[in-house]
Amino acid sequence: MKVILAKSAGFCVGVARAVKLAENTAEKSLPGSKIFTVGELIHNPIVTERLSSLGISAASGIQAISEGTVIIRSHGISKAGYEMLRTKGLEYVDATCAYVKSIQNTVEKYHKKGYTIVIIGDKDHPEVIGVNGWCEDSAHIVSNSAQAQMLSANPPLCIVAQTTFIRSQFNEICDIINQRYEGSEVFETICSATEARQAEAGAISKTVDAMLVIGGKNSSNTKKLVEICQNNCKQVFHIETAADIKFEQFRACETLGITAGASTPEKSILEVLSVMDNTMENFEKSIDNLVQLKTGDIVTGEIISVNEQEIYVNIGYKSDGIIKKSDYVLDLYSDLPSIAAIGDSVTAMIVEMNDGTGNISLSKIKVDEIEAYNLAEEKYKSGESIEAKITKIVKGGVIVDLGFTTGFMPGNQYALRYTEDLNVLLGKDVTGRIIEFDKEKNKIIFSRKIILQEERARQREEKERLRNEAIESLELEQVLTAPIKNITDFGIFLDLGGVDGFIHVSDLSWRRVPNPKSFCSVGEVIEAKIIELDKESFKVKLSIKALTQEPWIQFSENYNVGDKADVKIKSIVKFGAFAEILPGVEGLIHISNLAHEKVASAESVVAVGEEITVKIIDIDQEKRKIGLSLKDMTSPPKRRIESEKIFHREDSSVTMEDLFKKYQDNNK
Ligand code: SF4
Repeated sequence: MKVILAKSAGFCVGVARAVKLAENTAEKSLPGSKIFTVGELIHNPIVTERLSSLGISAASGIQAISEGTVIIRSHGISKAGYEMLRTKGLEYVDATCAYVKSIQNTVEKYHKKGYTIVIIGDKDHPEVIGVNGWCEDSAHIVSNSAQAQMLSANPPLCIVAQTTFIRSQFNEICDIINQRYEGSEVFETICSATEARQAEAGAISKTVDAMLVIGGKNSSNTKKLVEICQNNCKQVFHIETAADIKFEQFRACETLGITAGASTPEKSILEVLSVMDNTMENFEKSIDNLVQLKTGDIVTGEIISVNEQEIYVNIGYKSDGIIKKSDYVLDLYSDLPSIAAIGDSVTAMIVEMNDGTGNISLSKIKVDEIEAYNLAEEKYKSGESIEAKITKIVKGGVIVDLGFTTGFMPGNQYALRYTEDLNVLLGKDVTGRIIEFDKEKNKIIFSRKIILQEERARQREEKERLRNEAIESLELEQVLTAPIKNITDFGIFLDLGGVDGFIHVSDLSWRRVPNPKSFCSVGEVIEAKIIELDKESFKVKLSIKALTQEPWIQFSENYNVGDKADVKIKSIVKFGAFAEILPGVEGLIHISNLAHEKVASAESVVAVGEEITVKIIDIDQEKRKIGLSLKDMTSPPKRRIESEKIFHREDSSVTMEDLFKKYQDNNK
């Protein structure tokens, strides 16, 4: 049977540190001193037994301790717990894991800002109870999708996760909460050691016939490993020690995977391996896998010492790792001790197995680069928009800082049009996308123009959609109201919500409109009727005039020769005066019809604007001419007939049509 042992099996950085601190405390204490842990230091019976042999006992809580030294386990405690320690005057050693501390800080900060805290995790787990104690126990604790659906909290929300929560479940729960509470602050606080362990357990369990998961039955992270393995493998056995192994269960197995929780000591793992070794073939090979490291491997360890030039890292190997300043940070003016602290976890690449002093040379920058390139590749493949800053002008383009790495933006990729002077772009924030990515050539080509092109195409599509929608909604003879978009000498254009409509100057009014600008103004909303509609060519012709009956028809229906009419003098000409009977209908009072006696000029009888009553003496339907008489409204004076003949003689050859024509010509 082939045995595959997970590389990440066993103590994580946080647990290893907590156990080490506890052992050191016991070592330095005077005989008979009392040392307590708040709850079991880790959920593993072997470790608990060993600590007990060193004089360290687990108390149920701080309230149960009255003297001695207290070790705070990696799960951490509440803010009130620290206050109680101080009030009681108890000495304490804080072994809270850096990951947990970071969550506590986040929760305290956002609680103070007024956010409602949501912890995704197990409400009974000590880490979750402790974290809740940093927001005055006000957090909503959600452990599954059903609870997320039922969540009722006051926004804004700040969402954190228990460090050992399963990533896929965390994402699922966050999606549900985010759909219901927009703008929530989500902190992905699952610790990377846990994630790596869970990912490896998941991967191994997919390829083997059976899985052995070693760890305490009360250990939350071990139980999660069991859950993950059970999703992929039918035979998963959770054991605490080698004594729990039942060999008959593996008889039919060709491959066996082994992993262990973060609180499982190496001793337990080795015991299991040893027991398996006595019974299985190829076992030696698997153990070798556990400890073999080589150049190019990526390892995670805990910082154990920092000076101005180097960082020493415990990577769980016979030799420590050393990271030079230049392999840790790009800015060589940085103060190394202020950016890297003892106890911090660091992931780095092995660049040399022996640096000459027996240590392993590591580079964090290489891992950062790999992560940055992986992220760039991810963003390239997903087409995600990226906020970037132009940091440098180079030949043919600019360098952009993408936040996680840099890229090159060619000069022609900044704008839709050619950018003459790239120097003015220095320092500008831009939104763009990676349009070319070549990992091997370290090539990341960034473009802002592609976003602008897409935006323009979107606007065009939207305009086209609105235009089609608008034209489809129109019908011939439809009466509509619309704002005036533009006015020209020959008419006005209306905005019909995506398509333009046109009203020719001759369709504005039944009266003559000399200039459309004197008739209406841009922005004014008017009513008009569609008189021509061509949906294919998007031509819409409208008329205001068509909204009302033609004045001549109105006149014809209401007036006859011999009728009296109240009129208004509109203009005076040499041969008489034109008077408005109805808006748009005028008639002529010939000079000879102004008075019974001869008048020298029309002005001597009527004035422009004057309202008088006249008699209709002639209607020419065909030529649409009307003859009016003021004279006929009064009785003629008693004079000799001869004189009247003389009065009419001079105009006897002029027709009414001639006079109208002359009037219209003068008004053109
Ligand atoms: S599992 Fe992660 S968070 Fe928990 S103690 Fe270990 S390193 Fe810290």
